[in-house]
Amino acid sequence: MDQGRPVQDVLRRMPDSLQMGLGAFAGPTKEAMRKCAFHYFLWFLPLFRNQPEGSMRFGVDIQLSSRMKSRLGDADLFHGRIRLNEKYFLRNPEMLPYTLFHEMIHLWLYDCGRDPAHTRKFYEKMDSFRLLGLPIDHKVHIHKRQVNEGKFVYKCSECEFKWFHRSKAKYAAICGYCEKHQGKKIWVKLVSSPGRPNSSFNRTPVVSK
Ligand SMILES: [Zn+2]
Ligand SMILES: [Zn+2]
Repeated sequence: MDQGRPVQDVLRRMPDSLQMGLGAFAGPTKEAMRKCAFHYFLWFLPLFRNQPEGSMRFGVDIQLSSRMKSRLGDADLFHGRIRLNEKYFLRNPEMLPYTLFHEMIHLWLYDCGRDPAHTRKFYEKMDSFRLLGLPIDHKVHIHKRQVNEGKFVYKCSECEFKWFHRSKAKYAAICGYCEKHQGKKIWVKLVSSPGRPNSSFNRTPVVSK
């Protein structure tokens, strides 16, 4: 339904739950931050569902982690989990939406069967963040590096994890995840390549928790 709708249209109005903004928390607590992050997540969600490229999965878990040191955020593509640096965002709450949006792009690309790295496609999507008028975290230097998109996609038929390579793999590989967690040796298969794109990538949606 939202397909093709411009960003401005989808996000024209900040939801009431966010009218006060993250900065309104005088002394933000971890729980308040997590809730607020989730409201931002819901606000951004229309930009990551029913897009021409595909949809992000349901049931993404958002956590604030006290164990993160140098990284501001990361996305666990396998489990659909976004972690945000608790210490950093308690000090700089207004910067949280920027990193959250960034991590959502990683998950979305992966779920669409696209290389989730910092590719041109990644930055194209990041551009839509600017239209929201939210603060941009200029401390995040790593976000300026761009890599070529890996279009040779390999997949484990057991756990469905995907890998993205820029050229065809020279050797067959087994899935490290299945080997580690189930003691099974599963050969990873090439499921998509530049000349043979596969459109049936989106996972079967699972009901959100
Ligand atoms: Zn990133
Ligand atoms: Zn596997």
